[in-house]
Amino acid sequence: MKIDIDIQKLDNRLDNEEWPILIAGPCSAESEEQLVYTAKELAQIGKVSAFRAGIWKPRTRPGSFEGVGEVGLKWMQTVKKETGFAVATEVANVEHVEACLKYGIDIFWIGARSTVNPFTVQEIANALKGTNISVMVKNPVNPDLQLWIGALERLNKAGIKKLAAIHRGFSPFSKMAFRNDPCWNLPLELKTLCPDLPIICDPSHITGSRDLISFMSQKALDLNMNGLMIESHINPKEALSDANQQITPRELKQIIEDLVLRKPKTQDKVQASKLMELRAEIDQLDEEIFHKIASRMKIAAQIGEYKKKNGVTIFQMGRWEQILEKRIALGSAIGLSEFFIKELLEAIHQESIRIQTDILQSKK
Ligand code: PEP
Ligand code: MN
Repeated sequence: MKIDIDIQKLDNRLDNEEWPILIAGPCSAESEEQLVYTAKELAQIGKVSAFRAGIWKPRTRPGSFEGVGEVGLKWMQTVKKETGFAVATEVANVEHVEACLKYGIDIFWIGARSTVNPFTVQEIANALKGTNISVMVKNPVNPDLQLWIGALERLNKAGIKKLAAIHRGFSPFSKMAFRNDPCWNLPLELKTLCPDLPIICDPSHITGSRDLISFMSQKALDLNMNGLMIESHINPKEALSDANQQITPRELKQIIEDLVLRKPKTQDKVQASKLMELRAEIDQLDEEIFHKIASRMKIAAQIGEYKKKNGVTIFQMGRWEQILEKRIALGSAIGLSEFFIKELLEAIHQESIRIQTDILQSKK
């Protein structure tokens, strides 16, 4: 089912036919010199469409740098005047919206900690009524697609049509390689539900690490994301917020030059038919895999009957550990990662347990 959101093109400075949307700038505005100097360097890359900087910083814990506040909006005006960039910042309440409107900020974004709260989003949407501002909505910190869509709908109902989503990843439950879990299935589902909505990837907040930005940016473009928002600071190590993930404008230039732009489809007929052949093979193999899994489930059901008759519990730790160990060894011998084997077996095992639970609990 598609979502009914009425989308118009974003601020036309973001609309570069040949290149994805590229928004860059520091995590936080720290001083006028820092902003203007960074913006001028970014302007030289030639591909940056808009300049970002946080004015009010939503820190998880109090006591760290919480942004320069309204004075930073004046600096953003200077950036706009000196470089011609559209300027973007985060708004988290009505006061922020009013101040940004007063200082002519072009693009507003709603941060991950605000998207989780429909009251906050509604307040911001009400304050924006009657304006024609471009608004970008970051995904909520928790992996809840409905909250993300709900925020976009609230803005749209308030008459905001120049909308985009920003994918910045989701707070992980346990430590992982990235600062935030990308959970790619969510932005991809959003794209399917709302094909006209541009989705901009924020590799800085997903990875939390400057060394991984290039990798994540390429991945985002290969997954058909419409643009990137990347944090860039003139002196990243001294940055007052998110120091580990910011890169210099020069480093950004290199990353941009190294990115490979691919298209969703090739125009070359021979290559296109080769792809069709390979996809037909994949379809065939998927069919075989599904038949095998169905056969496996039938045997699981027979085991369920046996357990019921003999008063045996469904789960036996020893057997499960043995399966895991053997299958991981098999997987590694044939080039399948341990992570993948575990995830796959876990899903199959859950389904077997569900089938056996039904059998053990049926009155027959
Ligand atoms: C930011 O963009 O600097 C920011 C605070 O992001 P998020 O809301 O994604 O944490
Ligand atoms: Mn940041």
